[in-house]
Amino acid sequence: MVFRKELAIRAALAAAGAAGLWISWSQPPARQPLTMEKVSANLWVIAGNGGNVAVMPTSEGVAIVDDKFALDAPEIVAKVKTISDKPIRYVLNTHQHGDHTGGNEAMLASGAEVIIQKQARANMVAGKQPGLPRLTFNDEEQLFLGGKEIDAKHFGRGHTNGDAMVYFPTERVLHTGDLYVSSGAPFCDTANGGSIKEWDATVKKALALDFDTVIPGHGAVMKRADLEKWVTTLATLRTRIQAACAGGVEDAGKRMDWSGLAMNGGALFDRGLPGMCRELSR
Ligand SMILES: [Zn+2]
Repeated sequence: MVFRKELAIRAALAAAGAAGLWISWSQPPARQPLTMEKVSANLWVIAGNGGNVAVMPTSEGVAIVDDKFALDAPEIVAKVKTISDKPIRYVLNTHQHGDHTGGNEAMLASGAEVIIQKQARANMVAGKQPGLPRLTFNDEEQLFLGGKEIDAKHFGRGHTNGDAMVYFPTERVLHTGDLYVSSGAPFCDTANGGSIKEWDATVKKALALDFDTVIPGHGAVMKRADLEKWVTTLATLRTRIQAACAGGVEDAGKRMDWSGLAMNGGALFDRGLPGMCRELSR
């Protein structure tokens, strides 16, 4: 019975997720102007409005990571033009959420190929999202463009079940997608296979890579030590979420202990909380 109830809840959440949830992410309340900063010798990040976009120009064209909301695509293209006269040829999506894939349709229409982890593409299909990528990978994808290498890696479940981190070996930079955010509490999208049980172990695997700089899914550019600390933070969060859930799912948010964590919840954290409570009760 518990299992059946779980399925019913999941189905309801999936339906809500497909309609309301994604739409709310794809249409931000107020648009912020985008900013661009140089991260390393040959890598830039475009921030503001939606997920952080990494931009790598090469002699054979430009590769970018994520493309924010649909309405941001023209400004992304304009910003890229200020550092390269080549077209955007590849977009690597870190996961399916509309604040990271919203520009896909425009990018595909202009001739770019979009690449995403297999499960994340399936999530896009289930959510009836536009801009479906033509190329997928399971554990790892390697892109060689203009003498540069860009590796997308799926380390396991966390924010969703199809997250990828994108590694730029020549730049010693890692784009983590929403597996790491430096702008507040994380969102665990359990309706799309996210897992608070596995999240820290997933991020820990990325630490085997050789990098100095970290571009989070959202928030300021950080250092390797910050991602190392994030692994501990996720484990602490899990322990505290479990404690908060023990008194009932409905008001678990009110019992969350945020002390010492430099974050204090928020709407997205709260949205993920019931699913995390269910996962941790199993
Ligand atoms: Zn996300």
